[in-house]
Amino acid sequence: MTNQQIIERDNAHVAHTYGRNQIALEQGKGMHVTDFDGKEYLDFTSGIGVNSLGYCDPDWVAAVSEQAGRLQHTSNLYYTDPCGQLAETLCKRTGFDKVFFANSGAEANEGSMKAARKYSFDTYGEGRYQVVSLVNSFHGRTLASLTATGQEVFHHYFGPFNEGFAYTPANDYEAFLKTVTPATCAVIMEMVQGEGGVCALDKDYVSKVNAYCHEHDILIIVDEVQTGIGRTGTFLAYEQFDVQPDVVSLAKGLGGGLPIGAVLMSEKVAKGMGPGTHGTTFGGNPVVCAGANVVMKKLTDEMLADVRAKAAALRAGLAKLPHVQEVSGLGLMVGIAFEEGISAKEVLTACQNKGLLCLTAKTRLRLLPPLVLTNEDIEKALNILNEVLSAL
Ligand SMILES: *Cc1c(COP(=O)(O)O)cnc(C)c1O
Repeated sequence: MTNQQIIERDNAHVAHTYGRNQIALEQGKGMHVTDFDGKEYLDFTSGIGVNSLGYCDPDWVAAVSEQAGRLQHTSNLYYTDPCGQLAETLCKRTGFDKVFFANSGAEANEGSMKAARKYSFDTYGEGRYQVVSLVNSFHGRTLASLTATGQEVFHHYFGPFNEGFAYTPANDYEAFLKTVTPATCAVIMEMVQGEGGVCALDKDYVSKVNAYCHEHDILIIVDEVQTGIGRTGTFLAYEQFDVQPDVVSLAKGLGGGLPIGAVLMSEKVAKGMGPGTHGTTFGGNPVVCAGANVVMKKLTDEMLADVRAKAAALRAGLAKLPHVQEVSGLGLMVGIAFEEGISAKEVLTACQNKGLLCLTAKTRLRLLPPLVLTNEDIEKALNILNEVLSAL
């Protein structure tokens, strides 16, 4: 089939909820992917931060295939090996005590907010349920995670939205103090707002919010769905901030390409989440967890050091390109703000034509390359961006 045939069939039968690039991808290897017309692309999107090891890492493929041929699903009524192994690895790596497995970032955030409300209910009784989130945040598309998402554009059509949410502008501690009430049970925040434009929070702000929350037993949920699993150069992004979260949600990069979400909880929070409080049929699926176990195994301290080195090289190169005003974000979560009059969407399309896949976030160009990129990949991407921007 050709790109055109794939696209036309899709448009006829798949709901049009996405603005999609007009190419159909057929197969990939490492940093590269080929479309149905045989054109090859260098991929700086990693499926929006999902393919941490690039396309079809051989060890990942072997583990997933082996597990699919051994035992593909059991339900959570039984124990399996890959799920427990992943939970153990995540707890040892992060210092958290328990993990709940879901299938996506939105679900991980639902689980995080449920766990926070349950803790508050068990500890303080009814009425202390408010979740405070940041303006410009993104937490997912289910009703509660969409309600928590602090962007007006998402708060149309689907109402009534959930009660018990409040919003406060990022990096404004005075505003935060005015937003929290005795009914506040949790604060949810991304250390780098991804969909919101790749904006890192101020360290001082996070530190102050952290101190206030611990003093008032307001739980801190850090949404690491996009920032986690090495993306920012540390295993979790919050390690670079002065914050001790009670709950962390993970998803995107954890499975290396298969759907997974995870809620990391301290014992204090986990103890309220007993039998019957939460669940999902597919959570902890053995095939998905087998893939995630490979990601976890490969994400060594050396690999994280390499991510930091690659990120520094990429960022230094980007800062020198024409029309670039600011390079934002952390590690390999990169936002590029252009001078006025330069549209990120146009840059994206021009890069795509020249064989480089990029993303946008709000008005910025966004790069989320697989964590395995090489110096040659960086050079090639910078060259294409330079050609595109020089022509504008
Ligand atoms: C992508 C994202 C989500 C939603 O994840 P889904 O898997 O699409 O449900 C939630 N929070 C953050 C920070 C994200 O980047």
